[in-house]
Amino acid sequence: MTGFGLDHLPYGVFSTEGGEPRVGVRHEDTVLDLAAATGRPELARDRLNDLMALGPRAWAELRAELPGLLERGDHLHEVDRVQLHLPFAVGDYVDFYASEHHASNVGRMFRPDQEPLLPNWKRLPVGYHGRGGTVVVSGTDVVRPCGQRVAPGSTDPVYGPSQRLDIEAELGFVVGAGSALGDRVAADSFADHVFGVVGLNDWSARDIQAWEYVPLGPFLGKSFATSISAWVTPLAALDAAWTDLPGQDPEPLPYLAPGRTRGLDIDVEVELDGEVVARPPYRTMYWSPAQMLAHLTVNGASTRPGDLFASGTISGTEPDQRGSFLELSWGGKEPFTAAGRERTFLEDGDEVVLRYSAPSTTGGRVSLGEVRGRVVPARD
Ligand code: CA
Repeated sequence: MTGFGLDHLPYGVFSTEGGEPRVGVRHEDTVLDLAAATGRPELARDRLNDLMALGPRAWAELRAELPGLLERGDHLHEVDRVQLHLPFAVGDYVDFYASEHHASNVGRMFRPDQEPLLPNWKRLPVGYHGRGGTVVVSGTDVVRPCGQRVAPGSTDPVYGPSQRLDIEAELGFVVGAGSALGDRVAADSFADHVFGVVGLNDWSARDIQAWEYVPLGPFLGKSFATSISAWVTPLAALDAAWTDLPGQDPEPLPYLAPGRTRGLDIDVEVELDGEVVARPPYRTMYWSPAQMLAHLTVNGASTRPGDLFASGTISGTEPDQRGSFLELSWGGKEPFTAAGRERTFLEDGDEVVLRYSAPSTTGGRVSLGEVRGRVVPARD
């Protein structure tokens, strides 16, 4: 079981030696060259955006054609012998903060004398606009960022490489069909706009973040890199993964469609240097993907093919379900063990892999594309 059977068929962009990047679909350990197999111009591109812009009817029609195209056995490449590229040109990128357990853990660490959740947290899906231009494909090295930080007990900042580099295990949602300026996307219209799902690692420099984030939120502590999987899992492959979220109290305002609290039963694994150190469950999130998109557009902000919005760190109720090293080591105070060593934040040379799996429509499981990244030393 590869998790890449006919019940999955995720899309990506690949190239072979000397060839131009083009759209492919993954089946088992092969990639089908969709540009060659169909002759369609929107698939002979180095990005999925043109396909995604066609909308849900075209997505369904193409998906229905795929088994037949695969059966012919032409235009197939071994996945290990192709280069995978960033699957779509990323437009605007928004990161939410939709896990109650993550937000509560961070609140307890950063504001120990106050309520862990701020008054707005259960009223709206809190988020911020990130940097679309630094979203990179799985396998891209991450250069340790430099910036300002303030040492414990000091009041003056120093400049240098981050000492508290971290990950955030998240899920990303890719907008295919956009929406016009001034329009709102109702929570009921989620599937008319969202093309699919990617794995996402929101690399985070906690020391830079802690000094800069008040009052306007995350900035340079996040914007140096965000990794996504090379494969975009179409929503249709996740039809059997929808599940009820734990519940919302107080009931959200009507535009957040209180009935639209369906989440996805996706299991996540966080691997550090070859050992799984956490298993965050996406089904425990507070806000649903449809509510996040409804909130993102409630002010009339438009969306475009390639816009990306992420869930925020996925953390469950249990200590080994936490999706960041900040939480796994409780602010660096309680080291955890990986590959026989005590660990807190990331060291140069560390490799992190995020893996995702979900129930498939045929009773098995699909494996979403992995998100892999290695930390390399800061540049002088
Ligand atoms: Ca995040």
